[in-house]
Amino acid sequence: MTILDGKALSEELIDSVKEKASNLKPTLAVILVGENPASLAYVKNKKKACEKTGIEYIEYKYPATITQEELLKKIEEVNQDDNVNGLIVQLPLPDHIYVPEVIKAVAPKKDVDGFHAYNIGKMFLSPEFEDLPPATPFGIVKLLDHYDIPIEGKDVVVVGHSNIVGKPISMMMLNRNATVTTCHIYTKDLAAHTKNADILIVAVGKEKLITADMVKDGAVVVDVGMNRREDGSLCGDVDFDEVSKKASYITPVPGGVGPMTVAALILNTIRATERQNQP
Ligand code: NAD
Repeated sequence: MTILDGKALSEELIDSVKEKASNLKPTLAVILVGENPASLAYVKNKKKACEKTGIEYIEYKYPATITQEELLKKIEEVNQDDNVNGLIVQLPLPDHIYVPEVIKAVAPKKDVDGFHAYNIGKMFLSPEFEDLPPATPFGIVKLLDHYDIPIEGKDVVVVGHSNIVGKPISMMMLNRNATVTTCHIYTKDLAAHTKNADILIVAVGKEKLITADMVKDGAVVVDVGMNRREDGSLCGDVDFDEVSKKASYITPVPGGVGPMTVAALILNTIRATERQNQP
């Protein structure tokens, strides 16, 4: 069994684009609303990765009471700011803000999270059009590629069908000629599907949802889940201790998909800047 070391690869990828960053001088802006502890931690990691890469990082912080109108106005201001190449509005947002409207407001060319319908739609066409893919799925693909894990012709089972992970990773796997099954909360018999997976990608947010009896011998297991236990420790959706005895490759949590998401965000910021600089 091999651990898919997202932390090491993330550092490698960040190192590999430092020179590009020093030529392009990209700027990433993050809009942070409220004091959600998980968001504060994610934003801190993004800032650190920007500093390591040589990307200028700007943070706009607002109280949770900001109105939707004020937030949309700020997004438009950053959209118009030629000095900013990438824009992230950190999710989740307070309940009174309508998230689809916020995602729609970010200029597609600066949408380094890859959430805008324009970037998601392009992704449906073929891998060549995955210009700014959603960061977590992009990170997963980079991780599989790095370990030379073949995707073409494989049975890929994705558990979770969110717009930011489950659906786009399903599409990216289909783009690479896998046979894809996407499971979710309404799936009748989850284990019947997961047992068939050559590559199992789990993005739910439920500790130990995937147990060893649900996994085929030799499967590649990618755990996207990020759950905080009562004692403060982090874990994924997969019972790592037991499933790792059957898997051929497996991501740890933490240290797997999480750092890859940050690396993908950096790659997207570089890409967005390159594309904006094209004549
Ligand atoms: P979400 O809450 O939007 O979606 C959860 C999905 O899980 C839904 O499709 C739902 O139908 C499905 N689901 C819920 N219970 C299920 C069950 N019992 N059986 C099968 N499917 C079930 O979540 P999301 O935003 O996609 O995030 C999923 C997890 O991934 C969370 O733990 C989140 O913290 C984590 N995450 C991690 C990263 C990272 O970089 N590591 C990035 C994004 C999300």
